[in-house]
Amino acid sequence: MNRRWLRPRLAAALAVPLLVIVSGCAHAADRIKAVASFSILGDMARQIGGDRVEVVTLVGPNGDAHVYQPTPTDAKHLSEAKVLVINGLGFEGWMSRLERSAGFKGLTVTASNGVAVQQMDAEGHGRSHGKARAVADPHAWQNPQNGKLYARNIRDGLMQADPDGAASYEANAARLIAALDALDAQVRARLETIPPTRRKVITSHDAFGYFGATYGIQFIAPQGVSTESEASAKDVARIIRQIKAEAIPAVFLENVSDKRLAEQIGRETGARIGEALFSDALSPSDGPAPTYLDMLRHNAEALAAALAP
Ligand code: ZN
Repeated sequence: MNRRWLRPRLAAALAVPLLVIVSGCAHAADRIKAVASFSILGDMARQIGGDRVEVVTLVGPNGDAHVYQPTPTDAKHLSEAKVLVINGLGFEGWMSRLERSAGFKGLTVTASNGVAVQQMDAEGHGRSHGKARAVADPHAWQNPQNGKLYARNIRDGLMQADPDGAASYEANAARLIAALDALDAQVRARLETIPPTRRKVITSHDAFGYFGATYGIQFIAPQGVSTESEASAKDVARIIRQIKAEAIPAVFLENVSDKRLAEQIGRETGARIGEALFSDALSPSDGPAPTYLDMLRHNAEALAAALAP
């Protein structure tokens, strides 16, 4: 009698944790895993994937995807992923080796597929993407109309990897695309207030070719100044001469971290020193550009403020 009573109780006691484990597994299996190469794509994949997709970003906020060194953890994430989202256009030179070492068998989405590719000067960029002088400019995401193509490519990749989520991915992508159209119109209206003669800036990282072509702003690289190392006093003197010669109203200096040098440039030329522009990475969540949309908005605002008469 005692035994008969005990058995079902034991079975029930065992069944409870088992049920928890099984349902926990089923839930994790429902979410597909996607790896994004850098923070801007990570944000887009998260927006479009919603709660059906677990997104792992390899190069995080403020990271430099040009010179990234993948880690064993990255390979582990990639080996578990169903989808890999990359920019393409030579941006992630380290990716094919990582894919091989991870034995990645999933679907690779090249987010920039279909954009009208612009050329850039490999040397002007500093962190050269190849030996040739003119190379494909990978920074296509700086034009929100290209961002819409990115969103469609990511949506299509997720739909292929997880057909059950198609309706969700379509709705999420449509929302992002509509937001990009609205932001594009806002940015255009904001930047149109800048007089044509003031539409030029110096930026040390040549990453705004697509942005400049879309909104009619000329981004000029500092002559003879390395974008990789800290600018020297001699570099600063050269920048000052260039600003005066070309009557450039504003300067955005990524590699002049010494405030006194930036102040000297401002004092001697009258040019405004702009707030940091975000080119190849988002800011951390408490910064001014935690999402792709925030980044575009922040950059437009920083440019408009620095170039206003
Ligand atoms: Zn770049």
